[in-house]
Amino acid sequence: MKEACGVFGIYLPGADVSHLTFDGIFALQHRGQESAGMAVSDGVSITVVKDTGLVASVFDDRTLYGLNGSLSIGHTRYSTAGSQDWSSAQPVYRTVGSQSFALAHNGNLTNTDQLAERVGALPGIGLTDSDMMAELIAQSFLANAEVVDGLHDALHKALPLIEGAFSLTLLDQDRIYGVRDPHGFRPLCLGRFGSEEEPTGWALASESPALDVVGATFVREVDPGEIVTIGPEGVSSDRYAPAGETDAHLCIFEFVYFARPDSLLRGKEVHGARRRMGQLLAQQVPVEADMVMGVPDSGVPAAEGYALASGIPYGQGLVKNRYMGRTFINPEQGAREKGVKRKLNPLRENIKGKRLVVVDDSVVRGTTTRALVKMLKEAGAAEVHLRISSPPFKWPCFYGIDTPTRAELLAATHSIEEITAYIGADTMAYLSLEHLVEAIGVEKGFCDACLSGNYPTPVAISPAKDVAPPANEPVELQPALPGV
Ligand code: SF4
Repeated sequence: MKEACGVFGIYLPGADVSHLTFDGIFALQHRGQESAGMAVSDGVSITVVKDTGLVASVFDDRTLYGLNGSLSIGHTRYSTAGSQDWSSAQPVYRTVGSQSFALAHNGNLTNTDQLAERVGALPGIGLTDSDMMAELIAQSFLANAEVVDGLHDALHKALPLIEGAFSLTLLDQDRIYGVRDPHGFRPLCLGRFGSEEEPTGWALASESPALDVVGATFVREVDPGEIVTIGPEGVSSDRYAPAGETDAHLCIFEFVYFARPDSLLRGKEVHGARRRMGQLLAQQVPVEADMVMGVPDSGVPAAEGYALASGIPYGQGLVKNRYMGRTFINPEQGAREKGVKRKLNPLRENIKGKRLVVVDDSVVRGTTTRALVKMLKEAGAAEVHLRISSPPFKWPCFYGIDTPTRAELLAATHSIEEITAYIGADTMAYLSLEHLVEAIGVEKGFCDACLSGNYPTPVAISPAKDVAPPANEPVELQPALPGV
């Protein structure tokens, strides 16, 4: 699984904000490593710089000193729709009459066919869902382009036509905007510079650590269905989806894997939730063992929690190459084992002869986990008991996370016994959905469609038709699953 973008925005009158925007998107690098970009306004014109690559390779001091202005938005991209080349990098920029605006998008839209028709996209002309959204907003903006705050009106007209997942930051010459879809699939939060009584500026970010790094104080999360407008008049808020009709569905995997451990989501720090997942996992599926270890990085807090609750000592069994980032360089078929070796290496003395509890956050195709278990056994582990701090991943995501098709999702087509045999672990168990929610500590308001099949919005496939093999039909396990 890969994340699908980080967005950032800053409004700080009297300052040049490009370096701060760099810091903001650098803090969100884990959400997307394919491209990075920012749009900066000096109050008259907007300049956009974007390119493929990591934030630090797209921007250097010389580029940043050339970007002048006190308001800006930024983006890091992982593509789940559209191509991976330069043309898909964001922010997306549009000119409307004498006005212009830029948009940065995190999420995936689910009604792109209707949107393509509505904006008059020609067949064969490649548009990402973010391009279509920008086009739709631009067409709505056209009627109001000369009106002060015309972009705000355009958002009110265009956003109700858009379905799916979108957390946005936008910028025109004078203001920045933060928007979340009515379900709030992807996170977005608001921060403040200065004191509550005398704010000196504002920032928006996918995750709160990006506010911390620029020196802004976390204020609150942007609500699902809300538009936050920040400009010379200060900060204001209104809704394009009525409060009563909004139905929060924050991606539950933000807590399991995607978000940084120091992020604040739904009022909870992610690291604490991950530790509690491990504690509940130990209570739910105990096992006799000599050492608990986590798969770096996102499995580590849950492993600490498992050790705490079980009384089994915690130790390190794997060292991660810190320069790998979170993606494998070559995820094609047959390369996963090599990818695991590039990323992780066993601490042989620490694991030799030991019965290990290995805690990881999720199993998607299973090929990476299989290579990991093999590595630990070859390094001398006596037993490997795999514990997963989330429920079985059975359904694809349509809301901005890159997942394989259902046929490639191991838990969609195989029993726990078959998965254990395929992975080569001695035992294996998943955290229940009830315990996952308990660990987060917030009862309602999550999307768990990839775990439950309950999609909060209409999606392109019918879950009812996309069934697993009948329970009694034997499933032949392949050494490596097709398409992996
Ligand atoms: S389907 Fe899964 S990964 Fe996608 S938004 Fe919902 S919980 Fe997150």
